Amino acid sequence: MATENKTEKTRAAKMNAVASTPTLYTELLIDGQLTLGQGMPEAILNPTSGETLVKVTDASLDQLEQAIEAAHRAFPAWSRTTPAQRSSILLAIADAIDKRADSLARLEALNCGKPLHLARHDDIPATADVFRFFAGAVRCQQGQLAGEYIPGHTSMVRRDPVGVVASIAPWNYPLMMAAWKIAPALAAGNTLVFKPSEHTPLSILALAPALADILPPGVINIVCGGGESVGSHLVSHPRVRMVSLTGDIVTGQKILQAAARTLKRTHLELGGKAPVIVCNDADLDAVVQGIRTHGYYNAGQDCTAACRIYAQAGIHDRLVAELGEAVASIRFARKRDQDNEISPLISARQRDRVASFVERALGQPHIERITGAAVHSGPGFYYQPTLLAGCKQQDEIVQREVFGPVVTVTRFEQLEQAVDWANDSEYGLASSVWTQNLDKAFQIANRLQYGCTWINTHFMLASEMPHGGLKRSGYGKDLSSDSLQDYSVVRHIMARHGQELG
Ligand code: NAD
Repeated sequence: MATENKTEKTRAAKMNAVASTPTLYTELLIDGQLTLGQGMPEAILNPTSGETLVKVTDASLDQLEQAIEAAHRAFPAWSRTTPAQRSSILLAIADAIDKRADSLARLEALNCGKPLHLARHDDIPATADVFRFFAGAVRCQQGQLAGEYIPGHTSMVRRDPVGVVASIAPWNYPLMMAAWKIAPALAAGNTLVFKPSEHTPLSILALAPALADILPPGVINIVCGGGESVGSHLVSHPRVRMVSLTGDIVTGQKILQAAARTLKRTHLELGGKAPVIVCNDADLDAVVQGIRTHGYYNAGQDCTAACRIYAQAGIHDRLVAELGEAVASIRFARKRDQDNEISPLISARQRDRVASFVERALGQPHIERITGAAVHSGPGFYYQPTLLAGCKQQDEIVQREVFGPVVTVTRFEQLEQAVDWANDSEYGLASSVWTQNLDKAFQIANRLQYGCTWINTHFMLASEMPHGGLKRSGYGKDLSSDSLQDYSVVRHIMARHGQELG
């Protein structure tokens, strides 16, 4: 394994003099080499201002071919490394992230508009932790016992890597999503071609020199480009054995169609529309604080965002009033980083999409604007944190993922009704129930058809616990040892040896 800091040293020379402006790395990583893309240039924007930060040139089709071939060549040796060897590599990646935590956080802040203090204290430590978790998990996997299931024959089960994995990430938590994809795939012994979102490549490109130093050539390749160009070529390539996507449902459908042609394994983490059931006996302060935080964090650009509230009649009016005030107090677009709680949307297009959802909702006579519901009048792609009440189950705003700082409230009388409405959704990723009666909490939680249900909280993720959806939210599991299973295949080895000692 290459452990010296060769590439890193050359690049250190390029570090900007101004500590607060991180270097903007634009080179792709192909077969162990950092190299500029030769495809189309893509402007990378700062969503707080709308200004171009830098241009990153996409991978050309030739470069994509080289990346896939490199991953294919690297696979046999990498797949034969021991769990202990792969574990030490993952730990080195985690250390490299910690070492660069400040500059990586600055890049996430620049490229996504996230408040820097949040990127530094939430995204980056969580990203390093994912690599550390898989470094441990890969060394203590469990499985079926070897034994004589047919007399005179010993059977054992192995878990082996799949091959070359194409991993495709979204823009909401660029480095963290990269970690969710890269760490389990590498831990399980696969090689990768990773494509970040065309909007947010900067943090993973900044980590690329360290990855080039830590990993053997070809084990991980990083290519940039759009979904319809680079992404779709990647997912239809015959050498790619598995595609892992976090993204929109429509993108998931396209990937399934492309994957069908060569029967690739797929791992899909798609959208969400999390129901939040608030019972009459819930702790109102905790609910208000919880939704204020977890409905609007990252400007609601989160597949688990607490965005679809069902409030029981006895608490409904107080909840709407107090939550309205709390949401109106969310701070954003302030000069001082520490004063900001949420980011802008990632692009003008996404902001306008959010605005048009709200406009259509407010066109319905029964929907009431409690707060927000307007584009922020200043630079950047901000949209006001918005709370809408009086929403009905069949309303578009209740049924479809907005992926913005917009939360709806729907009144219910009977718990049965709330559970039915919560489950009446194409999505199945995350949900929560708020009540001080734990019997009730479990009865509701057990009936919800969601990959995760929180009780009296929302949005909390642990690297040890599986994250993933049901229904159209997809079926791959991220995080946890379940994810290692998704990135590996079960094999049966059987030896015939007879029953008599010779
Ligand atoms: P997106 O689907 O537009 O893009 C995701 C990635 O897919 C990007 O890298 C994009 O370039 C690529 N892509 C697009 N079309 C492609 C194609 N035809 N072939 C191959 N690749 C293609 O999603 P987004 O707008 O970046 O992210 C928002 C979506 O992601 C939301 O729906 C959100 O709910 C979902 N999301 C889900 C989770 C989860 O854990 N389930 C987490 C974060 C985001």
